[in-house]
Parts: sequence; C-alpha cells; structure tokens
Amino acid sequence: MPGEVELQEGIIKLAARIIDYINKLVFPPKCIFCSELLEYKEKLEICTKCIGKVPLIKDNSVFLKSFMHGVDAEAVWFDGIFCTCEYKGIVKEAIIRYKYFGKYSYYRAFANLTAQRLKAVKNMDEFDMVISVPLHKRKERTRGYNQSLLISRELGKITGIPDKSRLLARIRHTDTQSLLHRNERYINVKDAFTVTDENEVEGKSILLVDDVLTTGYTLNECSKVLKKAGARQVYAVVVAAALHDIAQL
Ligand SMILES: [Zn+2]
Repeated sequence: MPGEVELQEGIIKLAARIIDYINKLVFPPKCIFCSELLEYKEKLEICTKCIGKVPLIKDNSVFLKSFMHGVDAEAVWFDGIFCTCEYKGIVKEAIIRYKYFGKYSYYRAFANLTAQRLKAVKNMDEFDMVISVPLHKRKERTRGYNQSLLISRELGKITGIPDKSRLLARIRHTDTQSLLHRNERYINVKDAFTVTDENEVEGKSILLVDDVLTTGYTLNECSKVLKKAGARQVYAVVVAAALHDIAQL
C-alpha cells in the first residue's frame, strides 16, 4: 500500500498531466517569452520575434574543466559542460517564472532548445542515459515539481536517451545556492548526493541535466558521486549559464 505522501504526490503528478493535456487541447501553445499565440507546428514554443533575442552561447557551448576557477583540476569530476544560453534577458526572466511562478510547461521549450543546440556539437549516441540534478523531496513537494527532471525527461524523449534520474538522489537538504557566498556554496552541496544503484551506473556515459549553471559546484558534486560509482564519462548540460556570475567569482 502506498503511503499518504506517495499517494498525494501521485495525485499531484496526475493532475499536472491532465491539466497539461487540457491546456494543449483548449489553448494553442504560446511563446514562452512573450505569450504570443503560436501555430501548433512550432515545436520550440518560441515566436520568430523572440528567437532572435535568446542569448545563445554561440562559439563556446562547451566549457571544459578549466572553467572551474579556484578548483584544482583533480577536484573537477565532470568531463565538460554544455551551455545553451546565457542566464540573462528574456531567458533569465522565463527561468524565474518556470522555477518560482508555476510555469512548469516551459520545460518543453527549454528541452527542445537545449536538444537542438546539443545535437549540433555532440553525438547523442555517446550517452547511455540522462540524469537530472535531484531536488530534496521537501523542496520538490513545496514547488510541486523538479524543474531539472522535467527538462531531463523531455530531453530523453527528444534524443532517445533513457532518463534514469532515479539513480541519483539528494540525501541532504541544502539551502538555495543563489543566496549563498562562494565558499558557502561549496560546503552547502558537499556530500549532498548519492547514487541509488551503482550497478546501473558502472561503465556508463552519462548526461547530467540542470537548469542553471552558476558556480558548477552542484554539477561537480553530482559528477563526483557518479564517477565514484564507476561512471565512465559524465558531461553536464544546462539551459542557461550565469557567465557574469562565473566571471566575478
Ligand atoms: Zn515571443
């Protein structure tokens, strides 16, 4: 018998899916940036006016280990990070609505945009699975959804890579990274994650998914536990990177 909490979560998830379905039927999709109505065929859910304003990271879509300033190369566990956009302008505003103002349906547009950019620079056959950065259950319950998991599942659907986010869990509740100073951010995520089944991770090539990159500490900690569990390769992909914040750290 499922517990009351699981039952509640199940009902919330089911309700979200039904609402999403009805929304699509009744309301044609809108541009996630300006709310302009779109034709059904427009997969990106971004209108032609807004697509030109998206601050895409053009030539530098892959940051390798060197971007982690002040962290020894041996302490960097991921093999690289793909960044779709800069965290500024209309993208920053949309991500804030997505995370804090219930606009969970934006995950489709974010995943489509990210997949489009990622496929241009990386052979997707290289990856055995996608895994999202987990939220603590308490936070997921308050928000009603894990914003990275929604993107990761959709990214998996688009690219044909299975989503195995259940293999990574957050074992410690952490404070919101953006409210903390650099050193506090590092301590805040240290030992916060665990791999739930090492057998499934061993020897695998993993694409780790998150919404926003700031210091990279969270992605690095997740990569650490995945690599220690035997993952062969861990690349991260984010919708947006706060390049300004990174430069100031
Ligand atoms: Zn628009």
